[in-house]
Amino acid sequence: MKPTGVVLALSLALLGGCQSQPAQQAAAVVCDQACQAQQFNQLSQQFIDELWQIAPEWAVYQGKYEFAPMLSLPNEAERQATLAFVAKWRAQLQAVPKAQLPAATQTDQTLLLNLVDSFEWEIRRFKSWQWNPSQYNVGGVFGRVLSEQWGSEEQVLQAVLQRMQNVPQYYAIARTNLTNPTKEHTELGILQNQGSLQLFSPELLARAKASDLSFDDKANFEQRFLASRQAISSYIAHLEQRLQQMETTPGRSFRIGETLYEEKFALDIQAGMSAKQLYQRAVQDKDKAQQQMVKITEQLWSKYFSKPMPTDKLLAVRQLIDKLSAAHVERENFVSEVRQQIPELVQFVNQHDLLTLDPTKPLVVRETPAYMRGFAGASISAPGPYDNGGNTYYNVTPLDNMGAEEAESYLREYNHWVLQILNIHEAIPGHYAQLVYSNNESSSLVKSLFGNGAMVEGWAVYAERMMLEQGYGDFEPELWLMYWKWNLRVICNTILDYGIQVRGMTEEQGMDLLVNQAFQQQTEASQKWRRATLSQVQLTSYYSGFREIYDLREALKQQQGEDFQLKQFHQQFLSYGSAPVKEVRSLMMSN
Ligand code: ZN
Ligand code: ZN
Repeated sequence: MKPTGVVLALSLALLGGCQSQPAQQAAAVVCDQACQAQQFNQLSQQFIDELWQIAPEWAVYQGKYEFAPMLSLPNEAERQATLAFVAKWRAQLQAVPKAQLPAATQTDQTLLLNLVDSFEWEIRRFKSWQWNPSQYNVGGVFGRVLSEQWGSEEQVLQAVLQRMQNVPQYYAIARTNLTNPTKEHTELGILQNQGSLQLFSPELLARAKASDLSFDDKANFEQRFLASRQAISSYIAHLEQRLQQMETTPGRSFRIGETLYEEKFALDIQAGMSAKQLYQRAVQDKDKAQQQMVKITEQLWSKYFSKPMPTDKLLAVRQLIDKLSAAHVERENFVSEVRQQIPELVQFVNQHDLLTLDPTKPLVVRETPAYMRGFAGASISAPGPYDNGGNTYYNVTPLDNMGAEEAESYLREYNHWVLQILNIHEAIPGHYAQLVYSNNESSSLVKSLFGNGAMVEGWAVYAERMMLEQGYGDFEPELWLMYWKWNLRVICNTILDYGIQVRGMTEEQGMDLLVNQAFQQQTEASQKWRRATLSQVQLTSYYSGFREIYDLREALKQQQGEDFQLKQFHQQFLSYGSAPVKEVRSLMMSN
């Protein structure tokens, strides 16, 4: 925000002939929207600074390495400190009259209030600190501190030395917190802490010994290093023991049930409908997508097969998808093919006047740097909020490290058609374009830290459909068939998540949904099943964001009739930054 608002307000107060009034009061009267926004931005900066004090691990993940030495303990005192933070900031944030703020700042206020609500809900209602053993793991931050280049070798090792001090206490508290763990999260806790144990390796100790740390620090380092290893090992042993006990006395169910699910959905997604309503929409959309796929299959069948089409229509769809998946790039051309497609997408967006793409911020496609690999595929990497001047890249991982079979299966998944949809989703006009808009138009630290994930994913999913509707790919039926398969995955994520957590869906039913009704491979489906037993709600974010954006567009078309312009809709929608779609909706529908 520009500081001109305050300066203007003050000078008006001095010149305006109200000397008899206290200057502050007079200034408050003339504080316009820009000035209100500036005051609110100061408040949110203060909020963030205080948040890092009670959540130093989060700060480290955001690139604030000055917090690296601080290990917070998961004890009652920490929970009380969080609740005190919640009470204080809820009052301060609520005291700001929303109507006086500009739209982008209003949504910042909403996001911060939602965040404090989430903190309180987690401690008082969800209580995963009592049942999720995987929540206790020191590895993540140690890994980050050790692998990122943020300071000198001595700074890094000093931070590790400090951080290690209370590791034994940390795990002792974890054990007493866990009054009723689930089997699934206990297994995950074991697995993930085993991974963390590897960080405390002989190499790390050797690194400390070879450093310029003082003699005393080196001795301390070794002692704390061994104590940390010991603490993690015995936590793992403790969890293994509890797992054994669960064979006779079952632990808590991993299914959180309808009440908690609705509450978590409201806080995490911030949608304009309930989880149940979204689930019902998803079931309808699943049927529609399948019907479209059957229609296309009937139309294309004789082009690809000489045998008659099976009477089981979903089986026919599957056979056609299998056939088409053979059309894919050679593995060595994967990255260059992606690189080639980007200008075509830019051209399409420009020619069809869908969105103004800032030509000064072209998308840079690069091979994923080695230190970021681990997952195959493509991703957008944007600079963090504290990483000024960083570039935005479209990272595409070459298939170098895959065996022949793995590469073939991957290439079939990202076949000729799906690869185009992926590029729309990740790059243009999906995530990358959204990111450029959110950084330009209503950039705020609040939104880059606590932005609404459903809006961000929903936009990318919306972009896929919108591009095809506008004629990208020339309405080729093969492309549409693959699109529906891709879209069906998003839809079924919602059905699966709600089904498992609320409706008691069994593994058999879940696998049937993903494999037989959504045409997924067995491996992908079983990974998804596992993910949906360990997390809740997050899997619905793609579909819920998409559904709400699409619905908003259709509602505005109705309202504006012939005046509706797609480009105008896109630009206005994106101008609010990563705010919940329901907030954007109320801002756009009222104008
Ligand atoms: Zn092949
Ligand atoms: Zn995405």
